Amino acid sequence: MHIDSFFACSNSKLEEADFIIFGIPYDATQSFKPGSRFAPNAIREASWNLEDYSFFSRFPLYKAKICDAGNVNTDGTFEEIIERVSNFMRSFSGIPIALGGEHSISYAVARNVSNACFVIFDAHLDMRSDFDGNPYSHACTARRIYELGNEVVLIGVRSCSEEELEFAESEGIEIYSALDILTRGIDFIFDKINAEKIYLSVDMDVFDPAFAPGVSTPEPFGLNPLDLLRFINNFSGKIVGMDIVEVVPDIEKVTQTLAARLIVEFIARKCISSSSH
Ligand code: MN
Ligand code: MN
Repeated sequence: MHIDSFFACSNSKLEEADFIIFGIPYDATQSFKPGSRFAPNAIREASWNLEDYSFFSRFPLYKAKICDAGNVNTDGTFEEIIERVSNFMRSFSGIPIALGGEHSISYAVARNVSNACFVIFDAHLDMRSDFDGNPYSHACTARRIYELGNEVVLIGVRSCSEEELEFAESEGIEIYSALDILTRGIDFIFDKINAEKIYLSVDMDVFDPAFAPGVSTPEPFGLNPLDLLRFINNFSGKIVGMDIVEVVPDIEKVTQTLAARLIVEFIARKCISSSSH
């Protein structure tokens, strides 16, 4: 048994890697259960318990060029963190895989991704203009990303304020609720997303708390992780970046293990889709 402080299949230098894993351990605006600042390292630790082979994609991870670049310094104001994330992301050309931290960090990453449709898996709309006076709260992430001029699609939603929903619907933002996915199956979304490039943001509270108990704001009636696996397997060829946020490491290591597994499956399927083109 070996456990180390970097993601288990990290095997390449930053400049050479096709996949760049990095943490942004920021949870200063977390409104309910704090602790997602500990998630990047907990996900890394959990990764050592996983096979470096994807059964579903029949792909060994050592064939992928992966760099775990460590964590971005999250001292100071959120504006300073945004600047640091941008500076860091300018230093590589591989696919970014960001580990939160709370959902706010997706905005810091999104600012450096252009011409992509932002597909956000989240129990919450995150469409508030501000929360407790803070426009960079985790409860405002989808709104901030949308305001950058991006197409936004929300999947797995089952919680919001009346104002948020009115805003989202008046803007024509596509929302697929957890009930939509349950009754119609995730596959019905596949031909509704026609973008050439997709950025995938996974707020882990999109899953049912039974599957992912370690999140900052748990919500009943959630998705099955296999739904997201099917989404990844279908769209991996188009996904140009992703983040996994809002994990608050749980004592049984269930939630951080799911996060690590999603990264492994994404990388494996992405490699297969790239080699088949
Ligand atoms: Mn969120
Ligand atoms: Mn959420």
